[in-house]
Amino acid sequence: MVLSQYNSFEVKYCKKCVVSNQRPRIEFNSDGVCAPCLYAEQKQRSIDWAKREGELVALLDQYRSKDGSYDVIVPASGGKDSSYIAHMLKTKYGMHPLLTSVAPNMWTDVGWENLTNLVDAGFDQVMMRPSGQVYRKFSRLAFEHFGDPFLPFGYLVKAFPIRMAIQYRIPLVMYAEDGEVEYGGDTKNQHRGTIDYDSDMVRQYFSGFSPESWMKYGLTYNEIQSFMLPTFEEIKQARLDYRYFAYYRKWVPQENYYYAAEHVNLKPNPMRNEGTYSKYASFDDKLDGFHFYMAYIKFGIGRATSDAAHEVRDGHITREEAVALVHKYDGEFPARYFRECLDYMDITESEFEKIVDNYRRPHLWEKTDGKWILKHRVS
Ligand SMILES: [Zn+2]
Repeated sequence: MVLSQYNSFEVKYCKKCVVSNQRPRIEFNSDGVCAPCLYAEQKQRSIDWAKREGELVALLDQYRSKDGSYDVIVPASGGKDSSYIAHMLKTKYGMHPLLTSVAPNMWTDVGWENLTNLVDAGFDQVMMRPSGQVYRKFSRLAFEHFGDPFLPFGYLVKAFPIRMAIQYRIPLVMYAEDGEVEYGGDTKNQHRGTIDYDSDMVRQYFSGFSPESWMKYGLTYNEIQSFMLPTFEEIKQARLDYRYFAYYRKWVPQENYYYAAEHVNLKPNPMRNEGTYSKYASFDDKLDGFHFYMAYIKFGIGRATSDAAHEVRDGHITREEAVALVHKYDGEFPARYFRECLDYMDITESEFEKIVDNYRRPHLWEKTDGKWILKHRVS
């Protein structure tokens, strides 16, 4: 099957879900169906999940400790996915996980409560909290020059578990899902359950911007060191094995939520997440809304598009329902923590608007009667 990326100036929507070809690195087949939809069909029909679970057991048998020492790192935010994985590894597969967590820019109450509940359910955890001063400065720079204040958090989420794996001599790191495979991007690791650390990490997750590239914007080496990924040499020396749990067990985010609610007392957001209709994913940082809002500005697809596309693929809603949800919620302005976020990043409202408008590309946006309007919407 030939998959290709459309010309990025010509906006096209997947025939099965609601995602568009503006999502970075996403591929479509010649019938106009996106790679994550095709992969979702394989998940339903052709992947032998019993065989995959057998592979998981064989993998874990290789690493399971006999004396109860930690044998697997689980990067954990306290959300549904990490809670599900940590609990499954410990109770179903007899592993001894060490959780690694990265503090968000600004905790929400429910985010903190969920992480605490997970740890209280019987897990040891190490947490990375970068200097507040540096975190703020870096997030602001990333907002200004990359259009996403979340990038520094993203660096830490990838770097910290690996650093801890090396430091604690725990050879196995179990990530959740490969976003490139599940939600759209590079399909090359679809049937592997792992990535090529040296070539994929920076390209796929950071769009080519490594933490070191921010030194030219005024950050010092001392300030960025905790955000930096260990080198490939360090990884090789430590013989690290990093895997995606979603390769081994059929990945259905909604079911992860139900599992985590039952077993580790995970709570949903008491309020609907801004920009979408859901309450179940990614709400531990007050900056979350801006990350998704900026995706809407940069690519014309926001948080509701992403949530609705997953649910169509999992067979929970129809495409028509998804289109209606996108029209209703996509691009909703994240007003709830707006003032706090401006204060945090130390920018004024007019600076904020100027930065946002910088990321509106002319093939996606036009200004009519002083208002910005998307030129294309899913239908
Ligand atoms: Zn699709």
